[in-house]
Amino acid sequence: MPRHSTDPSARALQGARLRPRLRAIARPSGRGSHARTARAALAIGIDIGGTKVAAGVVDPQGKVLAQLRRPTPGRDPRAVEETIAALVRELAGEFHVASVGIGAAGWMDRASSTVIFSPHLAWRNEPLRDNLQRVLRRRVVLANDADAAGWAEWRFGAGRGQERLVCLTLGTGIGGSMVNDGVLERGSFGLAGEFGHQVVVPGGHRCECGNRGCWEQYASGNALGREARGLARAGSPVAQALLAAVGGDPGAITGALVTELALAGDPASADLVHDVGHWLGLGMANLAAALDPGMFVVGGGLGAAGELLLGPAREAYARNLTGRGFRPLAAISGALLGPDAGLVGAADLSRLRR
Ligand SMILES: [Zn+2]
Repeated sequence: MPRHSTDPSARALQGARLRPRLRAIARPSGRGSHARTARAALAIGIDIGGTKVAAGVVDPQGKVLAQLRRPTPGRDPRAVEETIAALVRELAGEFHVASVGIGAAGWMDRASSTVIFSPHLAWRNEPLRDNLQRVLRRRVVLANDADAAGWAEWRFGAGRGQERLVCLTLGTGIGGSMVNDGVLERGSFGLAGEFGHQVVVPGGHRCECGNRGCWEQYASGNALGREARGLARAGSPVAQALLAAVGGDPGAITGALVTELALAGDPASADLVHDVGHWLGLGMANLAAALDPGMFVVGGGLGAAGELLLGPAREAYARNLTGRGFRPLAAISGALLGPDAGLVGAADLSRLRR
């Protein structure tokens, strides 16, 4: 399992990280250990989404030095692998890169070598790590996208220094991850952190996981959009600003739009974000009963709502917390790294994992 340390040998090597590729190739081989070099070296992080593949060169401080994007080439596994390889080759032509981290939605096996299932892509028991290592001739590590984002927030963002951190990425669903004592917790079968599928309303809204009433049906960007569309379709006069923003078509209202209008001061949109924040805090209280973290970091598209979301979440968290009044409240903070978090975390994990 990865462990973070401020390795002095890593710091000493950082000055050499922008060494041109040709010089790196000409460097005598066999000097220094691979582990020392890898920890201090540049890495490429890849973030595979349903619509785009982002790739970036990331330095040991988590800074993105260069970035490329391509559309996700459909669901065909081979085409996605070729896109990844092309992006890595292009970036590696400019920078001396030691390893590659791949972040994608889905379940990876405990060895981080096989994608067992990916919702946006056709990977089913796909030995992606070995396929890519063969082509790229570099160390490749696979990570769940929420794990990668959480790792990045712990290493470089809002969760730095936390002994027990829970990170939540709120978008179409809820991505979850945990870092305990510097170790990314992946569970016995690689499935830890699927917090979005805890049931908070038995018999509630149908979830794509097959169950009903999952937390992500109430506390995600998609949930916010669904609630706003419902309000608009009900013909409520309070939904005027929302309807005006989409030319009167309730079906065009998204969670991102509601967040934007809430931040711009529309009271109905702010109320909708408030309600989602309440559900968020309730689920966090459930997590605290099981995990007892010192901090929750909240990121993803809906995280942009900031205090409009986090304020109600803190209230609901305090109201529903097991042992309230007799225990400290965990901090609830916004993420700091923005949309690059997955890419940065995947790159960093590729440096640290063996
Ligand atoms: Zn579910």
